[in-house]
Amino acid sequence: MEQVTDRIWTETKVRGCNPSFVETSIGPVIIDTPQLPTKAAAMRRDVEAIGPIQYLINTEHHVDHIFGNYWFKGATTIIHHQGVHERFMTVFPELDPFEYALEALPTDDPEGAALVPDRETYYADMGTADVVFSGDVTLKVGDRTFHLLHTPGHTPGQIAVYVPEERAVFTGDTIFSECTTWLMTSNVDQWIEALDRIRALDVDHVIPGHGPVQPKSYLATQRAFLLEWTSAVATAVAKGWSREETIERVNFAERYPVDIGQEYMMDYIQERNAGALWDTLTAATTTTYPAKEPPVR
Ligand SMILES: [Zn+2]
Repeated sequence: MEQVTDRIWTETKVRGCNPSFVETSIGPVIIDTPQLPTKAAAMRRDVEAIGPIQYLINTEHHVDHIFGNYWFKGATTIIHHQGVHERFMTVFPELDPFEYALEALPTDDPEGAALVPDRETYYADMGTADVVFSGDVTLKVGDRTFHLLHTPGHTPGQIAVYVPEERAVFTGDTIFSECTTWLMTSNVDQWIEALDRIRALDVDHVIPGHGPVQPKSYLATQRAFLLEWTSAVATAVAKGWSREETIERVNFAERYPVDIGQEYMMDYIQERNAGALWDTLTAATTTTYPAKEPPVR
């Protein structure tokens, strides 16, 4: 793993998200888990060697951030935003998360297949939250502070984890660093607000959901790319292009590569990004997809 500060470590070079941990005076805190089973099992072993894991926090419900929770069960307290909890490993029309996780094994983690139980066993006990919150929450863990800030947009339950003592923030997929952005299940207006909120933090290190660690200035790059996408599809709608024509003609595949191991997903991402924005910008109501955070149940 790559050392970001005295206390922060992250892994940006394997398939899946950037699983990370922060050392505190009483033990480490994990932020997102490796998607690949052997990496998840290894991370638990390595981090437990440092000290008892105090918390496992997930920044969003997408499978590449949560699938590995299974291998941390019983090791720590798992904490999720309500929006993550409600969507944890839920099968959506655009993606079956369990299938998608298995898809990665032959190429990226052949030995991992032996660690994955059948679907029924997995779903019976996945490593879901012990603590569920809405809004923001602050965890004081030994000599470090973790502000879990609700920053919806990429997903409804999206959070940023701000560690002021390290001048660092973990953004999950609010930032795709040097790799293409998945926005087909997102509310881009909320996402821009999320970037504003993170910009107000006093930080030097931005640990993204995917790709290399960045300085704070990268927030502007992510904002510009979201606005470019929106503007291009808005222009297509203004020209009267159909959904199909928009998907055909609006494409940012040349701008950034897809993150490690998912290169074959480029067309899928481009088509769904364009289609989702077209749907939002032509919707009969002003309620954008997905709808705002559901009420707490
Ligand atoms: Zn992700």
